[in-house]
Amino acid sequence: MKQCISAALAVGAATATAAIALCGPPATTAIPATAGPRAPEGPATAERPSGPCALGGITDNVAETAATPDGYARAHGTVRALTLFIDFPDARATITPRARFAEFFPAAAEFFHTSSYGRLVYRPAPLLKWLHMARPLAAYGIRRGAAFDPASDGGYHALSQEIVRAADASVDFRDYDIVNVIAAPNAGPAATRTVLSVTFSGSDLGLRTGDGVPFRNASFIWSRQPGPSPFRVINHENAHSFGLPDLYYTDGRNAPPAAGHWDPMDEDWGPANDFTGWHKWKLGWLGAGQVACAQPGGPAAEFTLTPMPSPGGTKIVVMPTSARTALVAEARTRGPLDPALCRPGVLVYRVATDVASGGGPLRVVDATPHSGGCLTGNRYVHAELTDAAFRPGATYTDPRSHAAVSVLARNPDGTYRIRIRPPDARTR
Ligand SMILES: [Zn+2]
Repeated sequence: MKQCISAALAVGAATATAAIALCGPPATTAIPATAGPRAPEGPATAERPSGPCALGGITDNVAETAATPDGYARAHGTVRALTLFIDFPDARATITPRARFAEFFPAAAEFFHTSSYGRLVYRPAPLLKWLHMARPLAAYGIRRGAAFDPASDGGYHALSQEIVRAADASVDFRDYDIVNVIAAPNAGPAATRTVLSVTFSGSDLGLRTGDGVPFRNASFIWSRQPGPSPFRVINHENAHSFGLPDLYYTDGRNAPPAAGHWDPMDEDWGPANDFTGWHKWKLGWLGAGQVACAQPGGPAAEFTLTPMPSPGGTKIVVMPTSARTALVAEARTRGPLDPALCRPGVLVYRVATDVASGGGPLRVVDATPHSGGCLTGNRYVHAELTDAAFRPGATYTDPRSHAAVSVLARNPDGTYRIRIRPPDARTR
């Protein structure tokens, strides 16, 4: 089962500013402060990826490119998420907005807090009333893959126009970094049948709020996912507003998954799963000292990887294999965000910053191909890659660049010692 699509459009317009100003008309509905996660203890300054391993690449859409272009939302510090609720004449909500809100929060905010090691403090701000759309749902033509066309009086543009008009009197859009629009759960098909959830991130969509800022970095959440952590559709969709691409194939190709359950940008159904270290670096959740760069032609070297659930330490070793590709190693072990991880070890994957979202821009190397995997029997998890991690004693050698990752040992403190042979100089 696959999750939602990203519908990021081309970057073109100026960055939205979130300047704080006096509020407009008095709010007709109070927006209560939501109990979000605790503020991080001590400094948690985010650092933008830099250095020779911070690869350039696609900049006009979500991508694995290390730097995230202007227009996307910042993924560190305090991020304010305006959260709106909509229903339709033919699908009137049968629960309160607060009950619908509680399906996602505070869980999604806590997920970001834990995954970012406290660097992302997510503050959802719900407007706790159903905004009633004027037309029946079918009249908007909302389908999987529906576009945001500012020239259209249907689709997401028409829907967003109505939402903005309905919320503008109560909300100052300048106060928020991202927008969640959560539909009544009975609107549209079940998520198990058709996944409609989508995010329009990055560029100016051609719709302005009454407060003068572009309407963008907006996630539309439909229906309900089954399973133990269905709130993660928010984490997946919001991550598009932070610049991350889809790792599952969006072109309908019949191929095994590229990353599987090792990142929620591939699979966000089933048991929880943490983001890969490359994504954490891109989002500003790792300090510069937590990313080791093994440049082509360099000497072999040993590193100690601290597993993803533990804050601090070296999180990824990056080996650039070209100007737009790299091999990455990280340690993955069971933790609060990876409760079902069944083969701890060193995960090796390739990133390609010139491969489009949905085309396989991050691919995990399987240490045990054709094994059938170790997390089996969950219909929302593709099993084969679940035992992809390399264990002590194993070595992976990239046939093209001859870069190699050897897992030397698991230390008593749970860290992993690895030896890296960097890629050949000629491959750069
Ligand atoms: Zn997506």
